[in-house]
Amino acid sequence: MADNVIVVFDFDKTIIDCDSDNWVIDDLGGTQLFDQMLQTMPWNSAMDRVMGALHSQGRTVDEITASLRRAPLPAHTVAAVKAAYALGCELRIVSDANRFFIETILEHHGLGSYFSEINTNPGYVDEEGRLRILPYHDFKTSSHGCGLCPPNMCKSTIIERIQASASLEGRKRFIYLGDGKGDYCPALRLSEEDYVMPRKNHPAWELILANPRALRAEIHGWGDAEELEEVLLRLIGDSISARGSDANRLISADCKFQTTMPLSSHEALPKPLRVPN
Ligand SMILES: [Mg+2]
Ligand SMILES: [Zn+2]
Repeated sequence: MADNVIVVFDFDKTIIDCDSDNWVIDDLGGTQLFDQMLQTMPWNSAMDRVMGALHSQGRTVDEITASLRRAPLPAHTVAAVKAAYALGCELRIVSDANRFFIETILEHHGLGSYFSEINTNPGYVDEEGRLRILPYHDFKTSSHGCGLCPPNMCKSTIIERIQASASLEGRKRFIYLGDGKGDYCPALRLSEEDYVMPRKNHPAWELILANPRALRAEIHGWGDAEELEEVLLRLIGDSISARGSDANRLISADCKFQTTMPLSSHEALPKPLRVPN
């Protein structure tokens, strides 16, 4: 079992093969307005404003939901998520999309129950039937202090929290998958034992390749969903066999120990083994 592995997925252009914000806005005819708004406000705030404008034009949440259900989520990605889960990995999402979009898409593809946690911008339908999208980090009150990331979210603050709780649970290895600029900052937080899977020829990949030594984690690129599945399952497999060989080393060390120790003190030895099931 790979129950020592935590797989962290970005969502847009990683789990789904498009950007969910652009997908919905293009579908509902809000592209021009969105582009205008982006000139004066952060992306996350522009999303909320466009949703407000579309609502006042009479566009409904049902139309947004129908659009989200059409967003491309490749079969190889579905297979990769299910296989990683079946192998015992814990799966989490860290995304700058929003909760309403992500949950709608995952539920549509039957993937809702595979993830233990979704960290993203709040998104909900208010009492007037308008979709609200709020910042994950309330930047009007205080800054998260990271110069690399947009004001509403620095994924490193989330990764650091997951790392802290994982170390309490004895979880060891992170595998982080992402494509965007916002995935570079958390990639810098990964340790030597971790793997980062940037999507080839996307911003995270370009940033990583510009200075690979800035990262401690091992870098494994992927281009499409088929390669995502292949690379992810190979890395999980490597994590399982590395764990097995650790256990074997412990067993052989222990056997050698037994032959040279008198029985009485041997009985007093604590059991050093933690053999994986
Ligand atoms: Mg992305
Ligand atoms: Zn950051």
